[in-house]
Amino acid sequence: AKYVYDFTEGNKNLKDLLGGKGANLAEMTNLGLPVPPGFTISAEACRHYLAEGSVPEGLDREVAGHLEALESQMGRKLGQADDPLLVSVRSGAKFSMPGMMETVLNIGLNDESVHGLAKQAGGNDRFAWDSYRRLIQMFGKTVLDIDGDLFEHALDGLKGRRQDTDLDAGELQQLVETYKAIVREQTGHDFPADPREQMRLAVMAVFGSWNAPRAILYRRQERIPADLGTAVNIMAMVFGNYGDDSGTGVAFTRDPGSGRQGIYGDYLQNAQGEDVVAGIRNTIPLEDLEHLDRRSYDELTGIMETLENHYRDLCDIEFTIERGKLWMLQTRVGKRTAAAAFRIATQLVDQGLITMDEAVTRITGDQLAQLMFPRFDGGAEKKKIAKGMNASPGAAVGKVVFSSERAVKLSEQGQDVILVRRETNPDDLAGMIAAKGILTSRGGKTSHAAVVARGMGKTCVCGAEELEVLTTEHRFIAPGDLVVSEGDVISIDGTTGEIFLGEVPVVDSAVVEYFEGVSEPSDDLVRAVDRIMRHADGARRLGVRANADTPEDAARARRFGAQGIGLCRTEHMFLGERRQLVEDLVLASTDEARQAALDALEPLQKADFLGIFQEMDGDPVTIRLIDPPLHEFLPDIIELSIKAAKDEATKKDRKLLTAVKRLHEQNPMLGLRGVRLGLVIPGLFAMQVRAIAQAAKEVPGARPEIMIPLVAAVQELESVREESLKILAEVGVEAMIGTMIEVPRAALTAAQIAEAAEFFSFGTNDLTQMAWGFSRDDVESAFFSRYLDLGIFGVSPFETLDREGVGRLMEIAVAEGRSARPDLHLGICGEHGGDPDSVHFCHEVGLDYVSCSPFRIPVARLEAGRAAL
Ligand code: PEP
Ligand code: MG
Repeated sequence: AKYVYDFTEGNKNLKDLLGGKGANLAEMTNLGLPVPPGFTISAEACRHYLAEGSVPEGLDREVAGHLEALESQMGRKLGQADDPLLVSVRSGAKFSMPGMMETVLNIGLNDESVHGLAKQAGGNDRFAWDSYRRLIQMFGKTVLDIDGDLFEHALDGLKGRRQDTDLDAGELQQLVETYKAIVREQTGHDFPADPREQMRLAVMAVFGSWNAPRAILYRRQERIPADLGTAVNIMAMVFGNYGDDSGTGVAFTRDPGSGRQGIYGDYLQNAQGEDVVAGIRNTIPLEDLEHLDRRSYDELTGIMETLENHYRDLCDIEFTIERGKLWMLQTRVGKRTAAAAFRIATQLVDQGLITMDEAVTRITGDQLAQLMFPRFDGGAEKKKIAKGMNASPGAAVGKVVFSSERAVKLSEQGQDVILVRRETNPDDLAGMIAAKGILTSRGGKTSHAAVVARGMGKTCVCGAEELEVLTTEHRFIAPGDLVVSEGDVISIDGTTGEIFLGEVPVVDSAVVEYFEGVSEPSDDLVRAVDRIMRHADGARRLGVRANADTPEDAARARRFGAQGIGLCRTEHMFLGERRQLVEDLVLASTDEARQAALDALEPLQKADFLGIFQEMDGDPVTIRLIDPPLHEFLPDIIELSIKAAKDEATKKDRKLLTAVKRLHEQNPMLGLRGVRLGLVIPGLFAMQVRAIAQAAKEVPGARPEIMIPLVAAVQELESVREESLKILAEVGVEAMIGTMIEVPRAALTAAQIAEAAEFFSFGTNDLTQMAWGFSRDDVESAFFSRYLDLGIFGVSPFETLDREGVGRLMEIAVAEGRSARPDLHLGICGEHGGDPDSVHFCHEVGLDYVSCSPFRIPVARLEAGRAAL
């Protein structure tokens, strides 16, 4: 097997093998851009290492061969005493995981080669010792697992109030000795002086960092598969820390926040690698590089244009300038906010770089969902206390917390929190996930907080330098000596960067107003959304319906583009004031009493359906007959028992208690509900069908579809169907009669069931519950996090359809059902109908429509379009 690839051997399509960074370094190398030479160890080697605990056979030899080639290309050997080659060892997985895995720079330095490096740099001792101390620090922390604070404290102690650039060569040499002592103390061994040993250990540390807790957490959050492993890139070092003619920076070819075109990035003079992201000194805007180093600036902007045209998308870039010479260290198609994604996609169409079809596939339903988040009410009174950078849009309100642990704790208690930090690092990830928003006082739009928040679609304001964040004292100080303590409520606006004291009311997003038809597409974002949605609607094969059971929801669903109602649950129609009638029904001891209760319910039900038919104006309305067990509509058994024990129960209470006890079930979800209820309580379904028919008769063009829940056997369906057809004929109304497929047996006997059903609608909530044997009301909070840890699934099957299991049942039902009845109409109405991945699956298995909650309809329309393209 081959595990190592020179940068000249790869290309951008080999991300599975070379990781994103390696594949794109190869692509840039082949484009003739200035990339330091190097090679990539494949993710396959990492997978082997993770599985077996050792590197694959022959890897060491292969790496040695590539290193020799690199050495002869560079004309110096790794760590050579008088003229050393130094390398960086960088992680790089298929999907970018910013800052989650390890990188070690300056490999090859030791007590001898540090002098060679100084000589190479024209007698620049300071530079050489600075590079050496960085190596020991990074290597110590990431490879040797030493607490990074030990190094930080030593550095801070030496620096005092100065910046790190103020330390002279002698002080840095002294720091190297201190660092070496820390390594000895913490590990019992000397810092490894052998350059090849340094490299070997660093490679294994990068492999191992795939399973660092923060990497695992990040993958789960971003739904990145746990078994991919990371590639490792070994590249000749170039130095941004030579002096003021050197530096390092990050750049975007467009603004990843808004999507607008322009020069966008941060630059840090006399600095290396991670300094920019870590925010140790304040960066300057990239435009200012023009005045510092015109030639490099022009070359960089030229390369940015080349990259955009080549990738036909926004790219982000890491670069280093070494004594006036520009080097490209990384590029990739860059992350962006949801708004930027829509703007960029349509801009690229207008520039002739991509087609509308491509534009639609470049935007996700999740991004559209983010644009539908509320924003702060412009008219509301606000007390602005400071302004930072608008790092990730949205409006977040919550109690201030200063640590990741506290954020997790309060959010578990159901409280909204804003995580406030001076700056974040990967260890804050759990808190960032738990928080509604993130606020930092340091670092730019490319800081860790900003990058991670944008990736998660979480509101973030960063670099609010007016704030003094006193983490250990659990408070921050805003201008005017305003003290904000832990637990105080603040509101942060990730779109403007503003920070407000107290709770600011939020209003609908402009995109929602556009869907609602309240506003014409006026701003450029809404216009971009409008163009994308129209194209998606034109492309999609799947219909999109709504789960709605009130006229208000039905109306909103239509405004959002629903083409019908795919699930009208009728159980809410038995609540509120109607409880009394349901109690009468359950308590009825004679046929007459029962019929009287049903007769009282019927006109109420009819009025419910009338409202919905009118609202839907001739679009189909699938009405599901009552589904949950009857005791759900009765008073609580405990309440009644207490009353009885206290002797406070009336005669009716006692009757009720008897009924509740009679109806009590150990597993109500698997008990007397759905069609079973319809077959056991005479007249219940008939009443509902009559109400539907009579309402439909009064609304010209109404298209009712009657849906029977929880069917497992065709016999159940047949008897309800017969009775329903009779009632429809009596009233003189036509309606399709179909069933939900939500019991595995129904899926497996779909050919028989289709004989008695004109349509199927997959109830994937129950189908998932019953296929896995997971109680849908209990398991998610009880043990799913453990299952996610164990990698049993990467995402809850209640959220995204489990294609292999539940999806398989659906495939069987589709094939069997259509074979028995070729014009069988097929839909889905479980929660999965609004989940992007599940919508794609429904497209693939050939359903006719998906049905989801009104607010998810635009997402389903977009994803249905993407699935078809
Ligand atoms: C389902 O089971 O997927 C469904 C839509 O029905 P309910 O959620 O009401 O059980
Ligand atoms: Mg169900």
